[in-house]
Amino acid sequence: MDFIRDAIRTIPDYPKKGIQFRDVTTLLKDARAFRAAVDQMVMPWAGAKIDKVAGIEARGFILGGAVAHQLSVGFTPIRKKGKLPHRTLIEEYELEYGSDAIEIHVDGVDETDRVLIVDDLIATGGTAEAAINLLRRAGADVVGATFVIDLPDLGGAKRIEEMGVPVASLVAFE
Ligand code: AMP
Repeated sequence: MDFIRDAIRTIPDYPKKGIQFRDVTTLLKDARAFRAAVDQMVMPWAGAKIDKVAGIEARGFILGGAVAHQLSVGFTPIRKKGKLPHRTLIEEYELEYGSDAIEIHVDGVDETDRVLIVDDLIATGGTAEAAINLLRRAGADVVGATFVIDLPDLGGAKRIEEMGVPVASLVAFE
C-alpha cells in the first residue's frame, strides 16, 4: 500500500492556509498506482451486489468511472449545483464557511438500485452524507462508500457509518 500512499502529493496551504491538500493527480498519472488503487477500491465490495456507482465531482468521476468499469455496472454523476442538464434532486450541506449543494438527475438511479459511492477523499464526511441523502431520496439503497484517502481526525468515516453505510479507504493521513 506504501506505493499508493507515496503516489499522492501533498500541497501545503492549498486552497487556503492550514489545509494540507492531498493531490491524487500524481496517483492518477502513475499507471501502476492508478490500477492498484482501483483494484483495491473494488475489493471490499466483492460479493456485495452492486448495480451502480455514484461518483462525486470531480475526482470521484475519474475513480468512479474506473470502478464502475471494473464492476461492469453503470455510473451516475453527483455534481455541484447547476451542472446537470436534466431535472435534478438537490441537497445542501455545510462547509467550514457557508454551504454548498450537490445534485443528481431524478432518473440517475433506479429505485431498486444498490449503489456504491466513490470519491478520492473523505474529510468531515459532509459531502458523502449529502450524496447518501440524495441517493436515498431517489429511492436507491446505498451499499457502501469507497475512498482512496481517509482523514480520520475529521471523523467523516465514522459519521457515514453512523448512517448505516459501510466505508472503505486505502490510506489514512493524520
Ligand atoms: P468532506 O465533505 O469534508 O468530507 O470533504 C470531502 C471533499 O472535499 C472531497 O470531494 C475531497 O476531494 C475534498 N477535500 C476535502 N479535504 C481535502 C484535502 N485535504 N485534500 C484534498 N481534497 C480534499
